[in-house]
Amino acid sequence: MRLDEFPDDIRSYLVPRPSGDLFYRCLQCEGEFDLTSLLYTCPGCGQVLLIEDRQWAHLKEHPGTFWRRLFDYRRMLNIPALKGIFLFHELIAPVLPLEDIIYLGEGHTPVVRANESLRRWVGMDFFFKNDGQNPSASFKDRGMACALSYVSYLIRTQGLGEVLSICASTGDTSAAAALYSAYLSKTVKSAVLLPHGKVTPQQLSQPLGSGARVFEIPGVFDDCMKVVEYLAERYQVALLNSKNAWRILGQESYSFEVAASFDYDMKGKVVLVPIGNAGNITAVLGGFWKLRDLGIIDYLPKIIGVQSEHADPVYRYYRESNPAKRVFRAITVRPSVAQAAMIGNPVSMPRVIRLVETYEQMSGEPAVFVVQVTEQEIMDCQLIANRNGHIACTQGGECLAGLRQALAAGIVRQDEVAVLDATAHTLKFVGFQEHYFAGDLDPAYRVIPRAELKNSPSFVRAPGLKRFPASGQPLPADEFQAFVEATAKEIARELRLQERRGRDS
Ligand SMILES: *Cc1c(COP(=O)(O)O)cnc(C)c1O
Ligand SMILES: [Zn+2]
Repeated sequence: MRLDEFPDDIRSYLVPRPSGDLFYRCLQCEGEFDLTSLLYTCPGCGQVLLIEDRQWAHLKEHPGTFWRRLFDYRRMLNIPALKGIFLFHELIAPVLPLEDIIYLGEGHTPVVRANESLRRWVGMDFFFKNDGQNPSASFKDRGMACALSYVSYLIRTQGLGEVLSICASTGDTSAAAALYSAYLSKTVKSAVLLPHGKVTPQQLSQPLGSGARVFEIPGVFDDCMKVVEYLAERYQVALLNSKNAWRILGQESYSFEVAASFDYDMKGKVVLVPIGNAGNITAVLGGFWKLRDLGIIDYLPKIIGVQSEHADPVYRYYRESNPAKRVFRAITVRPSVAQAAMIGNPVSMPRVIRLVETYEQMSGEPAVFVVQVTEQEIMDCQLIANRNGHIACTQGGECLAGLRQALAAGIVRQDEVAVLDATAHTLKFVGFQEHYFAGDLDPAYRVIPRAELKNSPSFVRAPGLKRFPASGQPLPADEFQAFVEATAKEIARELRLQERRGRDS
């Protein structure tokens, strides 16, 4: 819609000007650092950082109804910079001018309600939010859109020459980093480090296609991460892992969109996310906290993190019910089909601990839970979801398994409504499905295929035919007709089709 067609009272707010006073806050020593350089950890004590806004309270000069109206109207505006996560500019990174914002089509992913039989199978109403429908096919694009917009702002305002972006990845971070860096290819070069053999072929092909330098490292993600941290400490690079707090800001858009898709009514809602490096759950908590603080929502949803029993350090931490007795211990992961979340030492753990406290303080009751599921449940749930019209990846399956677990444990009630994060597109993880169907999944996953969920193609070679069509070698007309009939009859026999009545021959 054209600007002059919006209501008068909203028009002057629709296109935001740079505002806010953002700074890095250390989660340990509470130190504050300004934004002129890209920091990942506290220069004083080495702890991870979060970005806060000194002018946050100014946003409260408007009531929640104002913000709801503004965001809903802004969706009709056709300014590219505001079409993605920066629809929520004031809540994400208000210091960024629109000219630096990169928009590749991220955000505003569909929220798809489970069909009746799936709702009945689970025992409650729920939705998948398909974050696999982002440009690089995972939610990581939300954080990258923000981080690379900031990098492009730094390049322009500080006259930086070429920047090298770098990250370690379980597959999706590197795909997103390489894609967004490729868009800035004139000034940003990209390098990614992957654990050799621990990302899917699709995920490996993504940064290659985007023109990134790709390094495969022996070990698992946690090992790659250490190498990348070493590089980031000693060399001139822009680290794009979720240690980079700008990514957390961008990923908060997930919460804003979930709220908007329910017209900001979060009463009785439950949001489930898989936990790997714990950047996503950090952002989801932070996002809903912001909405509640500004009165944009009246209730905080329950948040449930889900981990596989093969990679469950956050679950183990919260299993201790007495907060004073909780101790975080990194674990050694075992192979997981939820490979993108196969992390034993989550970088954002200090952020999670801080935000869970703040969230529950605001909520006034326990509102954040972490459940653990088996590899078998993850695979089965993914396949069952997709047999009912979804496009969930294994981590999406993990969320569904987590919902069933939470319901069984009484953490969630049947009259609540859940939103499950389908964090990536099913096609990125299709190898797990193929091995499940073929019955040759690595035994280390401990998954036994259920016959009723298996599927495989049937090759049809109709009996009684001497020759078949081949590429570049069409059959003569009569032989071709015989081929069509015999093949169709074979398929009809397999499918036990009834012949149409009243047809001759
Ligand atoms: C990165 C990723 C996760 C885990 O998110 P964290 O922020 O690392 O906890 C889950 N699913 C998919 C598909 C991912 O790419
Ligand atoms: Zn510090």
